[in-house]
Parts: sequence; structure tokens; C-alpha cells
Amino acid sequence: MPYVITDACRKDFVCAAECASAAIAPVETDEQAAVAASQLFINPHECIDCGMCLFICPQGAIFSIEDLPADKAHFAAENKVHFKKNNAYIN
Ligand code: SF4
Repeated sequence: MPYVITDACRKDFVCAAECASAAIAPVETDEQAAVAASQLFINPHECIDCGMCLFICPQGAIFSIEDLPADKAHFAAENKVHFKKNNAYIN
């Protein structure tokens, strides 16, 4: 099951820098995308479920999908949609 970033994200890029599978976007060096994005997102097709981001996020903004609070459940779809919009995958 993938991990999900929620609206507690403050775009500090700590998670993106440490993700072993480059599943988190935008990255800090993509300045235009980084400024435009409301938060960072995890590509569920690229996440290998290591859990690193969950432990290093200083904001507590990341959850495993099974532990997403009910009021944050829509962020699973929002993370996925971010990559669909950016043509990272089709389905
Ligand atoms: S759980 Fe691991 S692979 Fe998935 S987004 Fe977080 S750091 Fe990357």
C-alpha cells in the first residue's frame, strides 16, 4: 500500500530528498513546479512502501494509506491525480 501526503505538508522537501524510489514530487530543483504545487505528492505507482518519508516528515503530514484519518481520506486520490495530471501514468 502506498503512502499519502496530506495538507499538513509545508513543502520542506525532506521526504523528496530521501525517497529511494523518487516517488515524491515536485522536487526542490524543479522550481516552477515546486512553487505551483500546494503540497508534495506521492506517486502510488512508484512508492515501494518503505515508510522512510513517514518517519522523517517533520510535519507529520504523511500517512500509510490504511492509517489515513477519515478527514484526510481524499488525499489518497489527490496524490494520485497529481501524477495523472502530469502524465506520470495513465490508469
Ligand atoms: S514510503 Fe518510501 S518509497 Fe514510498 S514515497 Fe515514502 S520514502 Fe518514497
